[in-house]
Amino acid sequence: MSPAELLTLLVGTPSVSGEEGPLADLLQELIASEGFEVHREGHNLWFSFGKPGGSRLLLNSHLDTVPPCAGWEGDPYTPVWTGHRLQGLGANDAKGCVAAILLAAFELSKQPLEGEVVVALTAEEETGGQGITTILDRLGPLAGALVGEPTGLRICAAQRGLLVLKCTAHGQSGHAANAQMLGAENAIHKAARDIGRVAAMDFPVHPLLGSQKAQVTQIQGGLRHNQVPDTCEFLIDLRTGPEQDHEALAADFQRQLESDVAIHSKRYLPKHTDPGHPIVRAALQAAGKAGPVGSATTSDWALLGNLPAVKVGPGDTFRSHTPNEYLTLPELEAGAAFYAEAATAFFKLQVPREA
Ligand SMILES: [Zn+2]
Repeated sequence: MSPAELLTLLVGTPSVSGEEGPLADLLQELIASEGFEVHREGHNLWFSFGKPGGSRLLLNSHLDTVPPCAGWEGDPYTPVWTGHRLQGLGANDAKGCVAAILLAAFELSKQPLEGEVVVALTAEEETGGQGITTILDRLGPLAGALVGEPTGLRICAAQRGLLVLKCTAHGQSGHAANAQMLGAENAIHKAARDIGRVAAMDFPVHPLLGSQKAQVTQIQGGLRHNQVPDTCEFLIDLRTGPEQDHEALAADFQRQLESDVAIHSKRYLPKHTDPGHPIVRAALQAAGKAGPVGSATTSDWALLGNLPAVKVGPGDTFRSHTPNEYLTLPELEAGAAFYAEAATAFFKLQVPREA
């Protein structure tokens, strides 16, 4: 199957998060037909090949897409080629990466390797459910990972985490006309003071990730115009840096705010891999890049524990989750060549030199 045919097949098989079954079925059959023993758990697939006992490298990307947003020209689920450009839901995020990883794997499996490649194509990356975490234990020991997301083949060696805090300001309800006399505390006013504090907060600047502000993204409070509100809730979305501990950050917010602060989500941990680690060096070498970059968006890398990894793949993060997303054939082919070269380079760097 040609690269263009493979990408067309992937994009033409809908796989919104939680509904990856048909795509997993199709790929399971395709991978088996190439001679691999495919494992499956739910909508997650994995297989391995190469030299048993050598270093093991994970190539991972996700099968699921977000639901189509407004603004699509034509049916998002029907792949449309215009010249070298394929448009369709998931073409960029991340079916181009999935196709590139598979093409690289099929090519690599024909070569003698100094290590073992483990390919995992997983579900529910966009929703964080029954995906990579459900099979990670079954992949065996791993020495490094390439996480396939559209980065324009830039090597992301740092990735922000995500901390969501739910803040609740408490006051006393009363008639708005009598509030002054009653001394009723207005919960929305209290929340507003806190939101001002949040907006003014500064966080450490990271060499690859730059600076970041906390964002108040949702707010709810008040029942009617003439009643002083006794409760106001707001959510804070903070994209965290590798040096920031989520629990400690939440405690720090609590010290600075009048509202009660609770952790709403903290499992997307910030990630950083030392630029001297073989996975970073191999990826840089394969991509012909001088140095790594950072990425503000989270991915399944956040769920890989302490495994040294980089996030890299064909496509462009700014096309993700937008109408008319696309990938070009040259991008796909460069992606496939990259994964194959990076794996080969990684195994070479892992082999201890003779004394
Ligand atoms: Zn993605």
